[in-house]
Amino acid sequence: MPPSPSAVPPVSSSRLPGVVPYITAWSSERPSAQPVVHRGTGIGFADEAPYDRDKDGVLWTRTGHSPGAGRPEFGQVHALRQRRAMRRLLCQVCGRQASRNREGVLWVIGEEATSSGSWPDDLTTSHPPLCEPCAVRSMQMCPHLRRRSVALRVRVHTPVGVHGALYQPGGPRPTMWTVAGVTYDDVRIRWTRAGQLVVRLDSYTVVRLDRP
Ligand SMILES: [Zn+2]
Repeated sequence: MPPSPSAVPPVSSSRLPGVVPYITAWSSERPSAQPVVHRGTGIGFADEAPYDRDKDGVLWTRTGHSPGAGRPEFGQVHALRQRRAMRRLLCQVCGRQASRNREGVLWVIGEEATSSGSWPDDLTTSHPPLCEPCAVRSMQMCPHLRRRSVALRVRVHTPVGVHGALYQPGGPRPTMWTVAGVTYDDVRIRWTRAGQLVVRLDSYTVVRLDRP
């Protein structure tokens, strides 16, 4: 079953007063034309370069990189900053190192991620971790997060796939047909133009941030 990112929007797509989060996309960074073509047993860009794929061979959406230029597009996640934050465990709001202590790295997850009120052994999310000041501020100031999210200390986390645009064969070019989460071991990963890295939280503890 493909991973489905939490139903709660990332902190970075919320409107925190005076804050433009690190992974929020700016209007100047909108993807340029990226003609998708058939390549091998999947898709590629017509003018593909090595940096268009990650080390797992997954094709990534092209974006500009000019944070601060134009308008912040709250609700739009910048693909490469999201991926960088996940890989390097950077705070999704300020871009500095996410909080880490003996219990693990700090994540804030929507309660919708649990199916029956009990916490599963693992969760998948496309939301990068947070530093403690940004997590506390976000959970205090964002009504949705305050009501419907919890903080976790994660000891083991594993990249398991991507969230992105799925294409299907077409003529003369592949056509996009849906947006979904796809795991690395799913053959559809070759037909996916990734927009966000999805990580599985394998081992974690639910914590209270306001009570050390
Ligand atoms: Zn931060």
